[in-house]
Amino acid sequence: MSGFVSIRNLRKFYGDFEVLKGIDLEIEKGEVVCVIGPSGSGKSTLIRCINRLEDFSEDSAILVDGIHVTPGRSLARVRAEVGMVFQSFNLFPHLTVRENVMLAPRRVRRTPRAAARAQADRLLARVGIAEQADKYPELLSGGQQQRVAIARALAMEPQVLLFDEPTSALDPEMVGEVLDVMRALAGTGVTMVIVTHEMGFASQVADRVIFMDGGRVLEVGPPDQVLGAPQEPRTRNFLSAVL
Ligand code: ADP
Ligand code: MG
Repeated sequence: MSGFVSIRNLRKFYGDFEVLKGIDLEIEKGEVVCVIGPSGSGKSTLIRCINRLEDFSEDSAILVDGIHVTPGRSLARVRAEVGMVFQSFNLFPHLTVRENVMLAPRRVRRTPRAAARAQADRLLARVGIAEQADKYPELLSGGQQQRVAIARALAMEPQVLLFDEPTSALDPEMVGEVLDVMRALAGTGVTMVIVTHEMGFASQVADRVIFMDGGRVLEVGPPDQVLGAPQEPRTRNFLSAVL
């Protein structure tokens, strides 16, 4: 079996420290996968490997849409298909909201300005912040900034969207608006891999939940199994600590 995202024997070291200890994972097209686990278990490192923001061992392989995620020419093709949303938004402060969303299509795709602008405005409307387009990011709330970051990721029409704790830096009252946008995205055909501590969201939206600990995937399955009836003692301990 080979998924749309195929992760085979993924190993990664920081010096002598083995942070990912041989992860095998096949993710189907359109699937929504939530990754949970304690701090330091390797969740961020795992998803950063998918678009090769992190290097990994030579005996490992990751394929996205059949393309090997290796340094060189194919990497640009992979990165054009994989969007990423970070905990800390990472918007460009010197660009307006609309310009943030237009930037990659303009630079990477050479999309004409008018078309990029129209697309940006469509995407900003889709994430519910059309009226903020001319503002600079610092004037927006955290929840609004994260929605801009999602619109910016969508501007490249990615096949895969990676989210690394997209709501962890938000004030509690803003978590819902970002999760609502993500919930609307799930089921549009885009493949989503979401590192999150929002167990309610994971149980509603995920097709599968992955529990990581110590650089390994300890448990994988549908949410009602992994969250509702976990088999591994470490999963049970983690869930009883966070729920
Ligand atoms: P998580 O996202 O699950 O909290 P990370 O993937 O960020 O975990 O980190 C996994 C482990 O790798 C942690 O023990 C962390 O300290 C270590 N680590 C992360 N980044 C680096 C780095 N650049 N250099 C050395 N160790 C790192
Ligand atoms: Mg992390």
